[in-house]
Amino acid sequence: MHESGIAWDLYATARRAAVEHGATRVLRIAVDCGALAMVNPEQVQFLFTIMVEDDPLFEGTVLDISTVDPVMSCSCGHYQGDDPFVCPGCGGLPVMVKGREIVVTSCEIDIENENE
Ligand SMILES: [Zn+2]
Repeated sequence: MHESGIAWDLYATARRAAVEHGATRVLRIAVDCGALAMVNPEQVQFLFTIMVEDDPLFEGTVLDISTVDPVMSCSCGHYQGDDPFVCPGCGGLPVMVKGREIVVTSCEIDIENENE
């Protein structure tokens, strides 16, 4: 399933970042999901919750998925926007530069204080 691969990717990405930074817990993961990525954010959230269930690093982690509007851009440079129709400048077809990707934009972690 598409969504389970995405949830797994988010988990793996956040886990790698957390381990690299010596985190004791992952508090929040913010994700931008392109409106044309064809995923169901609720499904990703649900699968993510199941995946991290036995991982103490992810106890109570909030997965915050925001949907971002697609960005279309025309090669003539006239047009950039979220409308996937004909460019008003040259009549060409704008191409999508954003809208299908799923990106982790931030990952808040808890790091054990070494002075304590
Ligand atoms: Zn154009």
